[in-house]
Amino acid sequence: MKKKVNIMRMSTYCIAVQADEDEYLLINSLTGAVDVVDTDVINLLQSDLSQGEPSILNFLHERGHITQASPEEEFEDIRTLYERFTENRKNLHTHMIIPTYDCNLVCPYCFLSDLRKKGTQWLSTVISQELIDKVFEAIAEVDGTEKGRIALYGGEPLMEKTMPAVEEILERGESLGHSFIILTNGVSLCQYMDLLRGRNVTLQVTIDGPKNLHDKRRIRKDGTGSFDQIAAGIDAALKENLRVFLRTNLDSENLGALSEVVDFARKKGWVDNPLLSMHFSPIFEKTCGTYKHSMQRKDVYTAVVSNATSHQELNTVSFDHKGIAVLERLFLKGELGAPRFWYCEANDDMIIYDPFGDLYVCFEHVGDEAGRVGRYDPELKWNEKYSQWRERTIFTIPECKECKYALLCGGGCGFAALEKYGSLDRPLCLEYHEILNVVVPHLYRSRREDLAQT
Ligand code: SF4
Ligand code: SF4
Repeated sequence: MKKKVNIMRMSTYCIAVQADEDEYLLINSLTGAVDVVDTDVINLLQSDLSQGEPSILNFLHERGHITQASPEEEFEDIRTLYERFTENRKNLHTHMIIPTYDCNLVCPYCFLSDLRKKGTQWLSTVISQELIDKVFEAIAEVDGTEKGRIALYGGEPLMEKTMPAVEEILERGESLGHSFIILTNGVSLCQYMDLLRGRNVTLQVTIDGPKNLHDKRRIRKDGTGSFDQIAAGIDAALKENLRVFLRTNLDSENLGALSEVVDFARKKGWVDNPLLSMHFSPIFEKTCGTYKHSMQRKDVYTAVVSNATSHQELNTVSFDHKGIAVLERLFLKGELGAPRFWYCEANDDMIIYDPFGDLYVCFEHVGDEAGRVGRYDPELKWNEKYSQWRERTIFTIPECKECKYALLCGGGCGFAALEKYGSLDRPLCLEYHEILNVVVPHLYRSRREDLAQT
């Protein structure tokens, strides 16, 4: 019997993005191949491949950009890749503890605004000594004696009333060899310095613009701003050699002032400090409901990219986008990041412990009964939602099986899928085509010399 010969076709996972005038990047997220080609090659890929020059066809075939495999066979290759990826993976968890849901700021875009309806008593509860014991019992149960990472989140974890709980968590975690990341608004950082000094702590702190704008957005309960305390807190943290992720939440209100944040960071000497890195994170409708300044990702990225021409520092600012992270690694390290079989930590290694003994896996879902995935008090016990979240991959979402962005995207945000469709088995597609066309040329132009040397 004659062997069936499949016709050569462009790989499902080959994405072509114009990076400069006559330069295109062919990015294959299945083979990991990334190549710069010219317009002739792009035209060939879009026409009859049999008309191509053999040397070019051979090259494209070797790199996996064209293939004889059917889409189904390529998807099977993804499964094999996934099995290999997960087989020997040491899956340590990130243990995120919420000392309280309360906060000393009332930012207009905060997801906490919904939780405030639960009342002052609920909101002001601080995790008890008994529950801290239970958290550490749970950590030992899931990760044994492995040294992992503890994150503190909120509400605001660093407040005066949470100090005894935070100290207890830091002491116990440190004695077990864990490192820490604290997601703080930074208001009380100076008061916390005695507690944080000398520890293996990274801080994520938010500055939302120059002082006049920041103080309109990151507001204290008495209506005053928080800029000066936060800036002083960052200075104090850097002086103590603590690492700082400086985050700016961007939307239509402060987008135009992004370059002023960079100018301020430069004047403070933060930009040149290797302990500090800058990130910006667009505020989308999903996190803020009726918040009027939220924007489309693409528009935020377009503005950031155009600002980068006059502010070189923006070339190194991270896009805080999971799909782009795979590509950012390419431009920073010279190789494509690991394929994204699932979207985020909620589908992987995140466990969130709240001050009432409840467990969650998704940041946005905390405090909401519907998002609870179990309890850690009186003992660690998961419910059926836990496995639904953990099993959510591109293999459980039918649309993702045929999607060329699958290995960059991983199925999209599960929380947003639940909000939009009521199901974790639905995809949450972003405007990948538009986003890549904005971001890839920017990354390529700003980092191509480094890339050429790798
Ligand atoms: S969520 Fe949408 S964009 Fe992402 S992999 Fe699935 S189908 Fe593709
Ligand atoms: S599911 Fe979405 S909202 Fe929840 S942690 Fe992941 S990215 Fe964030």
